[in-house]
Amino acid sequence: MALKITNECINCDICEPECPNDAIYMGSEFYEIHPHLCTECVGHFDEPQCMEVCPVECIEKDPKHDEGKETLMQKYQALMAQKVSN
Ligand code: SF4
Ligand code: SF4
Repeated sequence: MALKITNECINCDICEPECPNDAIYMGSEFYEIHPHLCTECVGHFDEPQCMEVCPVECIEKDPKHDEGKETLMQKYQALMAQKVSN
């Protein structure tokens, strides 16, 4: 499951550099997560790094992008393959 940032985000900029997939970007009002790039940190870390660092706990699972661990691992592998070919 990809994660999403709620409108409680205070734009503190802490999470963006922590994301190993560069999935976090500044949206029109607050930070957002690109669902195709977020693997819940599967493949990189045991825990979602953005959730670990967010001071206001405004990052949660996005039920619109429901993916199991295996799918997230496949997503991670596809992203890594893309990186190598770029
Ligand atoms: S869970 Fe990991 S991959 Fe997803 S947005 Fe947060 S830091 Fe990036
Ligand atoms: S760490 Fe939390 S509050 Fe800070 S920019 Fe990221 S989502 Fe927003």
